[in-house]
Amino acid sequence: MSLNTRLRRLLEVSTALMLIAFLATALALRAPEPRSGAADNPVTLNIRTMVYHCPACDLTRHCGTDCVVLALAEARRRGGRPCTTCGGICLARAPGE
Ligand SMILES: [Zn+2]
Repeated sequence: MSLNTRLRRLLEVSTALMLIAFLATALALRAPEPRSGAADNPVTLNIRTMVYHCPACDLTRHCGTDCVVLALAEARRRGGRPCTTCGGICLARAPGE
């Protein structure tokens, strides 16, 4: 086996490995994204300010009857903006924080 042939084989193997790595990445990207599920997350929308919160956000305690609980996607569809304090969703927070 000449050096040239061995180099060519090495190149073929590394190309195949790169292809496998690419396919594995593509499959990983097709896994369910947390973001797609977040649209169903319940949020508390203040219908007066049109700001939506994580239902556990401290700022929702003061809005009383102005606040309605609905899905994140629905709050956005109504033109809601995320709260600057809680970010509008609870996902980023660890339990107990
Ligand atoms: Zn908030």
